[in-house]
Amino acid sequence: MSLIVQKFGGSSVADAERLRNVARIITETRKKGHQVVAVLSAQGDTTDELIEKAAELNPNASKREMDMLLACGEQMSISLCAMAIQALDCQVISLTGWQAGMLTGSVYGNAWIKNIRTDRLQRELDQGKIVLVAGFQGINKYDDITTLGRGGSDTSAVALAAALHADLCQIYTDVDGVYTADPRLVKGARKLEEITYDEMLELASLGAQVLHNRSVEMAKRYNVRLEVLSSFSGKPGTKVKEVVKNMEKTHVSGVAKDKNVARLALVGLADEPGIAFKIFSLLAKNSINVDIILQSIGRDESKDISFTVVRSDAQKARELLEENRDYIGFESIEVNDKIAKVSIVGAGMVNNPGVAARMFEALYGVGINISMISTSEIKVSVLMDERDTDRAVQAIHDKFYPEFGTAL
Ligand code: ADP
Ligand code: ASP
Ligand code: MG
Repeated sequence: MSLIVQKFGGSSVADAERLRNVARIITETRKKGHQVVAVLSAQGDTTDELIEKAAELNPNASKREMDMLLACGEQMSISLCAMAIQALDCQVISLTGWQAGMLTGSVYGNAWIKNIRTDRLQRELDQGKIVLVAGFQGINKYDDITTLGRGGSDTSAVALAAALHADLCQIYTDVDGVYTADPRLVKGARKLEEITYDEMLELASLGAQVLHNRSVEMAKRYNVRLEVLSSFSGKPGTKVKEVVKNMEKTHVSGVAKDKNVARLALVGLADEPGIAFKIFSLLAKNSINVDIILQSIGRDESKDISFTVVRSDAQKARELLEENRDYIGFESIEVNDKIAKVSIVGAGMVNNPGVAARMFEALYGVGINISMISTSEIKVSVLMDERDTDRAVQAIHDKFYPEFGTAL
């Protein structure tokens, strides 16, 4: 008998009919003789609606109370699904993050999983029950409810799979698997049979919402067998693993976009040692994560430094830098929050110098201007006006995946 962790996202549990469908998938797996732990997200847009409700009363509500509220969505899903499973005459129990032993750090709204105490889960499984666990939530050292960040139910599922040494973790969603680009937005996007943890981690971190990036990181660290598949179609999904069959063949596995980006530019900095240290240590001390950094060649003893942060940090970063203008020494600061990042990801890129050039050719072909470029062994990211992103993703995808050709 194997143990399978299954996770069902918001659209998979959106209404009674869909909950019945999920109950059927779970009970069929159980009837095949497997132990099942199923992690559920809140129904449909429930989390967004709860955030709106909170904003009506207090746009600056404390993060603790926000977590208290947001955790309700997942709790509704597990209890309703348990009722649907009981209607199918199967033994089932639903557990909140706390009851399932999900211990997290104390940061509300973006808590990290520290440990999972599996004794209760194990006891319920040993009694032959299907166990439903509320995704996205845990409990911190103050006995308060925490949430793991938007999209965090994927991470709950992978963490449970790792802690319980599950044989497989299946992420059920509203598309058939991981595609070469968002299949809802990009014509000709193709489903990948398999993808490496490293590529999936990059794609997820660069904006492909299909998996929470922390879930992929965790799956890699604990070697969790991961599969992304549809809760509607019954088709085979995408396997996420350490090594894939055609490692050398495919240079580009996917194209992703991320609009949650802002660029700051510091103009007129002194061209001397220590400037970058002063800027970025100041931001780091204030927990502001910096992504792409570009420094211009110094001329007339002055230089410029531009960098990107997530949009919600842009204002705070500007204020910090302004407050420290004398310490750092710059003429002016510019903030642009109407930009976005488009990236290609592929393990075979490092040995194929032409890949980045093909991406730039695709953008040139549709007249899109690039404002910053960043590369690593397995990705190339470019920054552009946010209005250009959808056209850019389609043009780049067409270049690497021509309609009747093969992936380059
Ligand atoms: P869930 O509610 O099941 O967690 P999400 O909405 O978080 O689902 O993620 C699934 C969505 O991710 C898909 O509907 C799709 O639009 C989007 N997506 C973005 N990039 C990709 C990609 N490369 N492959 C598949 N889906 C993607
Ligand atoms: N319900 C949470 C969200 O909407 C967590 C999740 O769906 O994974 O972000
Ligand atoms: Mg999701």
